[in-house]
Amino acid sequence: MALPTVDPDWEIRVAAFQTLEWLVARHGPTLEWDALQRGFDFKGQHFHFATKARGIFRPKEMRGGGPLSIKTIIPRGGRVARYEDSQKEDGVFVYKLQGDDPDNRDNQLLEWAWKWSVPLIYFCAVEVGVYQPIWPIYIRGIDRERMECTLSADDAVMMVRQLGVPMVADAKGSESRREYVTVQAKRRLHQARFRLEVLRAYETRCAVCRLPRAELLDAAHIVPDREEKGEPVVPNGLALCRLHHGVFDTDLMGIRPDGVIELSKTLLETRDGPTLEHAVKAFHGQNLHLPRNREDQPGQRFLEERYERFRQVG
Ligand SMILES: [Zn+2]
Repeated sequence: MALPTVDPDWEIRVAAFQTLEWLVARHGPTLEWDALQRGFDFKGQHFHFATKARGIFRPKEMRGGGPLSIKTIIPRGGRVARYEDSQKEDGVFVYKLQGDDPDNRDNQLLEWAWKWSVPLIYFCAVEVGVYQPIWPIYIRGIDRERMECTLSADDAVMMVRQLGVPMVADAKGSESRREYVTVQAKRRLHQARFRLEVLRAYETRCAVCRLPRAELLDAAHIVPDREEKGEPVVPNGLALCRLHHGVFDTDLMGIRPDGVIELSKTLLETRDGPTLEHAVKAFHGQNLHLPRNREDQPGQRFLEERYERFRQVG
């Protein structure tokens, strides 16, 4: 078969990307396998995004030699290694080749995708059965010795511009842009993991008001993540509803190191309607609802540092 100069499957890829966009808008950045396994439709045909068992997936309807998606494989009963993708340089994701033969059928699909720079979907496992889809993602290099390949993310706008024109090797400029986009994608991935872990620790309830809706909950950092000590670990997190996250982030609400909620003087002196009275001021002096698991409870050093800031601002 003569190799095509353009990806013969780009329409299928775009249909997949569009469906993912819709799914992410609806369910948030991480998708459970149940949502993914419904797949997508294109020109009267039904496609899967991926299969449960395989890491590299190419629907049989596709004509080119590249996969549609790649997915983290988690060993049976295993755990998702934390930050496994960031062990290497910052501007790339690392993906393990399948099996132990770099030339097996699955790995050949990767080779093809690399050669023709076709955009793929990377279903990166955040935990067992939960994936963060990253697309478009390109194979940047294959290391046969180490049995791994490097991936870089790109933005969808650039991809659409590149589709339809013959695919060419990366220019220097697009390489640095991809590094930047990949760093951003990794950051979102870590945030998504942090959010899942924090929400689970707090049993999907706001630590202030107990609101139990995941759609309305955030994982707030106690020491902000823009600061050096603001680690994305559960003891530096709090599950807060949107309202209380806002009040906390603006230092109108503080948390004493012993877990008691304090509101700023200015807020306590403000008189306004029922939202301020019942949804904010009523919590002054109350205890925060903490995770049962001690390891998940807020760390003293994070609480102390943040409380100090609250007092200074107040
Ligand atoms: Zn709340």
